Amino acid sequence: MNAITFHGVGDVRAQDVPEPRLVDPTDVVLRITTSAVCGSDLHQYHGRGGGALVQTGAIMGHEFMGTVEEAGPGVQGLARGDRVIVPFSVSCGRCEWCQRRLPSQCATTGRAVFGGRFGHVWGGGQAERIRVPFADHLCDKVPADMRDEDALFLGDILSTGYCCAENGGIRPGDTVAVFGAGPVGLLAMQSAQLFGPARVFAVDRVDYRLRLAEEFGAEPVSLDRGDPAAQLRAATGGRGPDVVLECVGHETPFTQAIQAVRPGGTVSSVGVYVEPSMGFPAREAFFKDLSLKMGICNARNYMGTLLPLVRLGKLAPARIVSHTLALKEAPRGYAIFDRKEDRAIKVMLKP
Ligand code: NAD
Ligand code: ZN
Repeated sequence: MNAITFHGVGDVRAQDVPEPRLVDPTDVVLRITTSAVCGSDLHQYHGRGGGALVQTGAIMGHEFMGTVEEAGPGVQGLARGDRVIVPFSVSCGRCEWCQRRLPSQCATTGRAVFGGRFGHVWGGGQAERIRVPFADHLCDKVPADMRDEDALFLGDILSTGYCCAENGGIRPGDTVAVFGAGPVGLLAMQSAQLFGPARVFAVDRVDYRLRLAEEFGAEPVSLDRGDPAAQLRAATGGRGPDVVLECVGHETPFTQAIQAVRPGGTVSSVGVYVEPSMGFPAREAFFKDLSLKMGICNARNYMGTLLPLVRLGKLAPARIVSHTLALKEAPRGYAIFDRKEDRAIKVMLKP
């Protein structure tokens, strides 16, 4: 089958690879109908973490959906032809962490991610087919009248954006600032609006992304106009936003988020920090009495909750899709998403 494989910094290729097969009785094999390129794939593409994230030749991608082509004899709730979404992290549903509703900490899989190299290595979703283990636990059926572009992001970036907003503890009337107007930040802005903030600011430097943020009710703050924390304080009578959502995943925006938030405010961060440590304005965070919440999203927990909100149009994830490419065009998809060319925001791939 055809799949997108990793070959080094800035080098992903469409290649012929072996078909996935059922291994455990609780597996399914999906025929993928849509997958996507995530900001987290870019960390691997950039060789962050010393290139240790993915092996050469590994199949990329953890955002995918599809139809069940084969189900193992131990699979109870799914049959051939069922159309399903799957969260990006691989979890068993039974270990201590899964039982504590922390599936992304799954002890059985060692915090594995599809197409990643944490814990056990699983094939990625930028492919024609994929093996999904623990299928009854991981797969959620999608209503027949729901389009792929409305359902797909429940498995990763919509759940992540929502969980970032929820972790911020936004209350009606609050002022919220979102760092990063990429796919995750934009969906964090949509999600933040569900909690009734008075104002939402979007911080980025990419103009066309800030324009879409405005359509989602956010006031743009361009990094090109200087220190974002100073701009946010100036726009809020000197006090700073009540809640800052960090959706970038680098030391600079994390620092700026801490500098921007008001005393006693909350910083909620979902950006992925690939390096083992980073600078942190600990004194400022301490004397500001701020609350900090960060981490990987337990998307498995959110898929079912958010699906009705998408159906009702209260969340509109498909609005961030800028490109729908054939799977074999993924190398171009990575390049434009990475370089912010051709007004790229979210790139979907069709096998
Ligand atoms: P992206 O790279 O398209 O978005 C990042 C955006 O941040 C870009 O638009 C960029 O211009 C902007 N940016 C860069 N520096 C900035 C700064 N100092 N201040 C404000 N904005 C700045 O990627 P994405 O798909 O939106 O993903 C964003 C982050 O979320 C990535 O780190 C990704 O790994 C992470 N992520 C985390 C989870 C999770 O479970 N926690 C899940 C999915 C994605
Ligand atoms: Zn992702």
